[in-house]
Amino acid sequence: MALPTVLSIAGLFAQSGVAILIAIVMGGLLRRYWRPFLRHWTWSWIALAVHAGAGALAIFLGAWLPINAPARFFLALLAGIAGYLQITWLLLGTAELTVGRSLPARKGRWLIAGVVVLGALLVVAYSWDPTRADLLFALRVTVRRVAAGLAFLVGGWAITRAPRIARGIGRRVVMFAFFGLGLQQIHFIAAASMGGKGFGIYVASLGFADVVLYVALALGLVIWLLEEERQATMDAAARIERIAYHDSLTGLPNRQLFLNQLGMALHHAKRNHTMCAVLFLDLDRFKIVNDSLGHAAGDTVLQTVAERIRTTIRGEDSVTRLGGDEFAVLATQVNSADDAAMLAERIITSVKRPIIVDGQELFVTTSLGISLYPSDAADAEGLLKTSDSAMYRAKAQGRDLVERYIAEGAEATLEQLGLETSLQRAVELKQLVAYYQPIVQAATGVISGVEALLRWNHPERGLLMPSAFISLAEATGAIVPMGEWVMRAACTQVQAWRLRGQTQLRAAVNLSVRQLQHVDLVARVEQILSETGLPPQSLELEITESIAMRSSGRAVDNLRALQAHGVRVSIDDLGTGYSSLSALRLFPIDSLKIDRSFVQGVPENTNDSAIAAALITLGVKLGVNVIAEGIERPEQLAYFVDQRCPEWQGYLMVRPVTAAECEALLFSSERAAGGTEVPPGFTTTDRVASSLGV
Ligand code: C2E
Ligand code: MG
Ligand code: MG
Repeated sequence: MALPTVLSIAGLFAQSGVAILIAIVMGGLLRRYWRPFLRHWTWSWIALAVHAGAGALAIFLGAWLPINAPARFFLALLAGIAGYLQITWLLLGTAELTVGRSLPARKGRWLIAGVVVLGALLVVAYSWDPTRADLLFALRVTVRRVAAGLAFLVGGWAITRAPRIARGIGRRVVMFAFFGLGLQQIHFIAAASMGGKGFGIYVASLGFADVVLYVALALGLVIWLLEEERQATMDAAARIERIAYHDSLTGLPNRQLFLNQLGMALHHAKRNHTMCAVLFLDLDRFKIVNDSLGHAAGDTVLQTVAERIRTTIRGEDSVTRLGGDEFAVLATQVNSADDAAMLAERIITSVKRPIIVDGQELFVTTSLGISLYPSDAADAEGLLKTSDSAMYRAKAQGRDLVERYIAEGAEATLEQLGLETSLQRAVELKQLVAYYQPIVQAATGVISGVEALLRWNHPERGLLMPSAFISLAEATGAIVPMGEWVMRAACTQVQAWRLRGQTQLRAAVNLSVRQLQHVDLVARVEQILSETGLPPQSLELEITESIAMRSSGRAVDNLRALQAHGVRVSIDDLGTGYSSLSALRLFPIDSLKIDRSFVQGVPENTNDSAIAAALITLGVKLGVNVIAEGIERPEQLAYFVDQRCPEWQGYLMVRPVTAAECEALLFSSERAAGGTEVPPGFTTTDRVASSLGV
């Protein structure tokens, strides 16, 4: 047997062997990854194995048998049909690979049948006249090689163009192998047509180059599949993460992710001693939208609201849909309750803008509850819970409102005693009582004013102190009618005493932030003054320092209007707020009340004493009255006498007492003060105190 023949046979057998191996690998991959194109490619390699094996055998038998011996004819038929099937299946697989799905099976079957017939015809055709060796070669080899070359080139081109095939090393190797195999077929035809002895050996040995390219193709394919698999796993993980941590309707983080973010924010806030806020939102009457316009409309509303909240908050902050029509916002950069309140207002304003659904304008309002870290809760769940309960109060208040969480104690009383509802009715039921605590003028020892302090005569719980109900009243808004009641009571009472000779007496009334921001405040106060006949100069409104600091807009306007009217304003609890002095610039102040917490430490605590002294100096420099409040011990009084503090208030002088007790005191002290010349300080107050048995 000649060397080229031996080489051809060896090359074909090698191809066949490699093709079997690759077919096994492809089959394995097919079972594992179930890609449609792998089925056709597996068949393609099986066909190649048959084609090359049968071809090798046919050439081998050629040494002994004539060309149209039945065995050789059969082998040639087999090799021919298998050769065309290899190309067909390869192309089918490549097409499936590039479009990403399996092709219709029926069409595939027709194509295969056609190819089988074509392959058979070609073999039969060349068997017709075995003497024409050139024709034989053309029909047997050239046609198939050209077809295969084109198939490989088209396949390689398709792979470069397929948009949905992930880029990677595997893809590149497969592509090059395809191009290589395509060019190799053409090269083979070209080399074979050259003829000549040396060329025969060269052409025969090209079969081994095919083997190398087939191996590269198979390897590339394996790499490619693994890369795709890895990508798919990563995509799936990302998708699972999205599904697991996001709300499918709005795309917002879900509760779990939000809690994680909140946990991290709290960790950060704890370490840096900063604040954060949780805002709990619930759309008002959302059920009506859903019921009357359908769920699709409801979904649109929820998506719009989600988007509006998302664009209102800052990038570092986070919003979640907790479910239904509930949302929560985490605000990390808050420095005060006011910051949170401002953000809350911005959010409910943006949600309030009309939402167009199916050409209809919808108006959706929100109730919002605020809870702050660290003052309201220490952990994520706690913040959600407290902001939720604040939101409920906003709903109860009449919706479309922002409410801040009220501390646990107040909440507990609210629940245990049902105070909230009875609080609303306390005014009507005449359960409120005004107590009066005298304010003593240092220079003369006379009572220059009385502070009205609210008490609630609760039918079951007896006389309640402000600490039991004021914050609740503030939160529920009940403080507005209550405050008005107390103001009227104090004005009436003080005017009565004034008419009986206490002409210098003034009424001090505490004002809550709610009242201060009330549109009607000025009109109400004016009305009370004209009803009772008390001159405006004899009414002093006490606002706490923190309220004064927070006040903006309407509150400041109200205070200015009242002052223009002649009403006096004092800053209560001075020293407990954040920045005492800037409040004093907002509006002219008539009095400063040094907070009890400083007075307590006087004179032993040098810090407290220094602060108290500084506040007195400040007041004197500003030309305003200063009142030391909460004086309990003679040493404290001595200190304030020493510091020339103009007025005193405290248990040492008189505790808050009923109107009747206060009256007794007023008229007895007036006699004393008016009768003999009393040195400032001790004598009068001692007498006042002892007359009450303090
Ligand atoms: P405030 O305006 O600073 O009133 C002074 C408080 O200090 C009163 O407590 C008074 O009883 C108490 N006090 C006075 N002298 C002494 C003392 O020598 N030692 C001690 N330990 N305490 C003294 P009260 O009556 O319990 O009122 C507490 C707070 O409740 C008031 O603080 C005020 O902020 C608020 N409040 C009371 N009545 C009203 C009201 O009608 N409207 C509003 N908005 N708030 C009120
Ligand atoms: Mg007060
Ligand atoms: Mg006070």
